[in-house]
Amino acid sequence: MSQIDTLPPLREVIATHGLSARKSLGQNFLLDLNLTAKIARAAGDLTGADILEVGPGPGGLTRGLLAQGARRVVAVEKDSRCIPALEEIAAAYPGRLEVVQGDALSVDLAGKLSAPVKIAANLPYNVGTELLVRWLTPPTWPPFWQSLTLMFQREVAQRIVATPGSKAYGRLALLASWRTDARIVMDLPPSAFTPPPKVSSAVVHLTALPEPRYPAEPAKLERVVAMAFNQRRKMLRAALKGLGPDVEDKLHAAAIPPTARAEEIELERFCALARLV
Ligand code: SAM
Repeated sequence: MSQIDTLPPLREVIATHGLSARKSLGQNFLLDLNLTAKIARAAGDLTGADILEVGPGPGGLTRGLLAQGARRVVAVEKDSRCIPALEEIAAAYPGRLEVVQGDALSVDLAGKLSAPVKIAANLPYNVGTELLVRWLTPPTWPPFWQSLTLMFQREVAQRIVATPGSKAYGRLALLASWRTDARIVMDLPPSAFTPPPKVSSAVVHLTALPEPRYPAEPAKLERVVAMAFNQRRKMLRAALKGLGPDVEDKLHAAAIPPTARAEEIELERFCALARLV
């Protein structure tokens, strides 16, 4: 396979900087630079874009993003041990990589990114899901980013792209499809990572829609969806009792059968219901 840059192989970087993987930080590294370049390509055309990368670790995906022509990468890493390795990449790509040490859940990135912005990350699963929900629920829409290219456990990736009628369908799928086009673009076996995790992974690519797919107030949509799926086995007329004594009338008005269950109902119908509460 071809070399993507002239920096040392990642195994050497890890040995030089003593980056033994820490479970507490969800560290499962990608060491194959051809694979990280492929993930970077899945993020679309990077030329002329600023990339926010979360959790760069030893920098495999960072190098992929830079080699694929990203205008700039701003990389936020919590583990201070990784910073010197990332600074070596910054030196090889002058002016194109800014390394920020911090927790992606609380770091302030104001003024660091210029539009258009794309986000790419191979993150621990719990942090990734929390950030995804935040990125999908800003106070205004469109958001500051154009697309998200994110690695998840395959089971979580399936929940993000799920369609009505499947077990995986729920709040995450509704949130993602309300604001984005989301699809799985790559599957990765545990052996792609060092150390290998217990489960398979997948890369999800989400492109922001110019506006939400159907009109609804975010808080109201969130409320009806949360209520409906908190008791997903119940018929909706029971699960949504909290909407008031006329819940069946509201369901009829939104063209939702009161005896249906949450997982059968499409986004458009949840948005119609949210407009009635
Ligand atoms: N992107 C690298 C790769 O693909 O090889 C590393 C992936 S590893 C699954 C997750 C990375 O996220 C680790 O480097 C870890 O230190 C970092 N990390 C974990 N929690 C974080 C947080 N809250 N904020 C920023 N980085 C975090």
